[in-house]
Amino acid sequence: YIRSFAGAPILVQGEVVAFLTLDKAEPNFYKEEHVGLLTVFSNFVGIAIQNARYLESATKKVEEAETLRKASSLVASELELEQVLKEILVQLEKVMAYDSASIFLATQDGLKVMAGRYLPNNNAIVGHTLPIEDKLFEEISESKTALILEDAQQDPRFLGFGNTGYIRGWMGLPMYLRGQIIGYLSLDNRNVGAYTIESANLIQSFANEAAIAIENARLFRQVQTLAITDPLTSVFNRRYFFEIGAREFRRSIRHNHPLSLLLIDIDHFKMFNDRYGHLAGDEVLKRIGKECQKFLRETDIFARFGGEEFVLLLPETTAKDATIIAERVLKIISDIRIEVAGELVSVSVSIGVSERELDTSDINELFEYADKALYKAKQQGRGKVMMWEPRNPINS
Ligand code: GH3
Ligand code: MG
Ligand code: MG
Repeated sequence: YIRSFAGAPILVQGEVVAFLTLDKAEPNFYKEEHVGLLTVFSNFVGIAIQNARYLESATKKVEEAETLRKASSLVASELELEQVLKEILVQLEKVMAYDSASIFLATQDGLKVMAGRYLPNNNAIVGHTLPIEDKLFEEISESKTALILEDAQQDPRFLGFGNTGYIRGWMGLPMYLRGQIIGYLSLDNRNVGAYTIESANLIQSFANEAAIAIENARLFRQVQTLAITDPLTSVFNRRYFFEIGAREFRRSIRHNHPLSLLLIDIDHFKMFNDRYGHLAGDEVLKRIGKECQKFLRETDIFARFGGEEFVLLLPETTAKDATIIAERVLKIISDIRIEVAGELVSVSVSIGVSERELDTSDINELFEYADKALYKAKQQGRGKVMMWEPRNPINS
């Protein structure tokens, strides 16, 4: 039965250990845009396997570093990046003493200070990108191992940005992920000769574990965003709409506040596609997402509901105000111009509006009312806003 197929390798330390595959009976179902998502998921699986393996090997070294094992498994359980970074520095202190410590991550613009602990000018440093290439980290990157300074103040390679006169003993370590350096960990100490090769060896496995935790947090964030976003228009998807819509619906009942919904459907979009091509159609959808988001309030929830349908949930808004907003949305969309082979083309939309009534039971019902109003707008010639006639209005 399989017509469409997508597959991705699951890598652990650069080696393929498994495959993740998806099958579909529908031909041509999987597209380029699925590749990114599938890759993220399979990376996630790879990291989870790697995590388990690291933990296993860390468990084996129990007698050598019981504290280290505890510290790193705690780090792996955290998923939000900022928290992960903070937690790494907290856990690091349990394994190795320091007077201050920082985490640097490689970004497009250079090395960025992502977290610091006990830095005298923490706020001035964290979040900033290093102004020039750092000799110490460069050396670590070339040698691929930790670098220890007996006394930073006597070392010409130590540039000491800001208020760093107290730093004598210093140690920098690479954070490895799948054989790549993703950043560095640095420990500062007031004592000359505070760090040794042995301390570097102990901290290196911690630094690697930290790298996995950082990657997990990044992927988690990415997957979270992808899971609620429509890939074409970057607005929320239908699933997220119903999730958050159900919440807003309950809230509006609890506070006895109004809640309105707009269902927006492009007119004769099939004809538009036939005439100007599917790509031009996609461009229209993208622009609608962009222009509507520019116009809306932060509390409004705008989502792509289906192919050429968008839905807008307006908390704290009566049907009367929702109709005014609908008229504006209608104008914003019909003002959009797309260039197709030198010609400027546009679309019109029909909009159905509904407001929660006393006996509206859930968000699905609110949606159905808007859908009925939309049907009427289509019947009465398209390019207009129609309001669902309430039977049991709250505001009368
Ligand atoms: P109506 O005014 O009654 O809404 O007519 P319509 O042609 O818009 O309605 P219908 O539901 O018959 O067709 C919807 C069309 O929307 C079908 C399809 O060609 C187009 N469409 C759906 N999703 C996409 C998409 O992702 N990209 C593009 N370009 N077109 C899409
Ligand atoms: Mg439609
Ligand atoms: Mg349509």
